[in-house]
Amino acid sequence: MRQTVRSNPSECTGCGACVSICSHHAIFMQANEEGFLYPVVDASLCVECNLCEKRCPVTQEKPWPKQSAYGAYCKQEEIREMSSSGGIFVPLAEEMLKRGGVVFGAVFDEQLLVETVGAFSPDEVREMCGSKYLQSAGADAIGNAVALLKKGVPVLFSGTPCQIAGLRAAAGEKFAKQLITVDFVCHGVPSPGVFRSYLNEQEKLAGQRIVRYHFRDKRKGWKDFSAVMMYEDGTEKAAGQWEDPFMRGFLSNLFLRPSCHQCRLQGRNHPADITIADLWGAQVVCPERDDDRGLSLVLVNSSAGRSFLEAVSGRIERFKISDTDALLRFNPSIMHPAAAHPKRQRFFESYIQKGFEQETVNALLKPPGRAEKALIRIKRVPGAILRRLGLGKR
Ligand SMILES: Cc1cc2nc3c(=O)[nH]c(=O)nc-3n(C[C@H](O)[C@H](O)[C@H](O)COP(=O)(O)OP(=O)(O)OC[C@H]3O[C@@H](n4cnc5c(N)ncnc54)[C@H](O)[C@@H]3O)c2cc1C
Ligand code: SF4
Ligand code: SF4
Repeated sequence: MRQTVRSNPSECTGCGACVSICSHHAIFMQANEEGFLYPVVDASLCVECNLCEKRCPVTQEKPWPKQSAYGAYCKQEEIREMSSSGGIFVPLAEEMLKRGGVVFGAVFDEQLLVETVGAFSPDEVREMCGSKYLQSAGADAIGNAVALLKKGVPVLFSGTPCQIAGLRAAAGEKFAKQLITVDFVCHGVPSPGVFRSYLNEQEKLAGQRIVRYHFRDKRKGWKDFSAVMMYEDGTEKAAGQWEDPFMRGFLSNLFLRPSCHQCRLQGRNHPADITIADLWGAQVVCPERDDDRGLSLVLVNSSAGRSFLEAVSGRIERFKISDTDALLRFNPSIMHPAAAHPKRQRFFESYIQKGFEQETVNALLKPPGRAEKALIRIKRVPGAILRRLGLGKR
């Protein structure tokens, strides 16, 4: 009797599609010791039809034939200000509301964990603004979106590329006219358990609860963004992206989901109609546009995406990009999955025992000392020489 959906759990993205694919309600999501959600099969309900595994998006690949790339930003300054990049998501979402549809996107819950929910009004859409750098729980949203599509309601679903692949696997092809999907260039998702544990440590240090967390505050500009936490007494603590220990760990790939390190949903493999991203490298690619308030890279992956973007053309400024090599240099996630930090395992050994400790993160990420540098040099020596020195694997 199966207990998990994929025989190799490290491939599972946690999209949650299998939860709604299973009509026997035999699958639920549960956090593992690293703090990531994985599907668990209730053996007493499973009839071993294997539908979950057959339709799991990890085994399916569907490259889009043609893709166009633009630079863009929202003309409304207040929207651009509250968004991580150029604020392209809000006009797209509001266009869907105008058409009588529902918008799915990621919001914080009361624990400051992230879940994907449906929005019916512009105010609810604004809560989705801004990147939250931890994996959102999306299984219920996929089920709810499919139920709405079946009732004829138009849906815009935004999420990680693997969540969009999950939605497509759960919905099938028949709702193409009602469904618009928006994903992003994805560096990978950190563990929700690690993030909560980090907040617990910070709350203990401050002696009070954190009530809001902003990963991409633009007070010092778009490129040099800050992570800002707000406490219940109204005070704030802001740290630069490389000072905040959680952001440092995220950007150094210390606690990303294992599937992110083998992800293939980049380049032309984005499963969404529209892909949004930061236009990193704007100072080289389009210096005349770079006012450090945020610019988006927009990839259009389908004809449905093209006409949806056209529909919001009055609200956004859009321009062509010619130096695509520079784009890839500044934003490697456009084409490649992030490699795991060599000390990922050591981080999780400590996390499983003691929870998140900023001291541990700082120690693991400190620049290598002399002894470590010498070891790295030894590892780069060809295997044959190492074997002759009696150091390499035989
Ligand atoms: C985990 C993660 C990794 C990313 N990695 C990169 C990268 O390597 N390179 C790059 O150029 N861009 C990356 N992005 C995208 C980038 O940060 C912006 O979100 C994107 O440019 C859109 O910006 P915006 O200003 O149009 O809209 P914003 O208002 O900033 O974006 C909001 C949208 O992002 C969605 N969202 C936010 N957090 C999550 C989450 N945890 N899970 C699912 N959906 C979420 C919301 O639902 C909404 O649709 C990443 C985003 C996330 C969440
Ligand atoms: S459908 Fe998604 S959550 Fe389920 S096994 Fe496949 S990748 Fe994992
Ligand atoms: S890197 Fe790939 S597997 Fe990881 S969250 Fe992003 S799309 Fe999903």
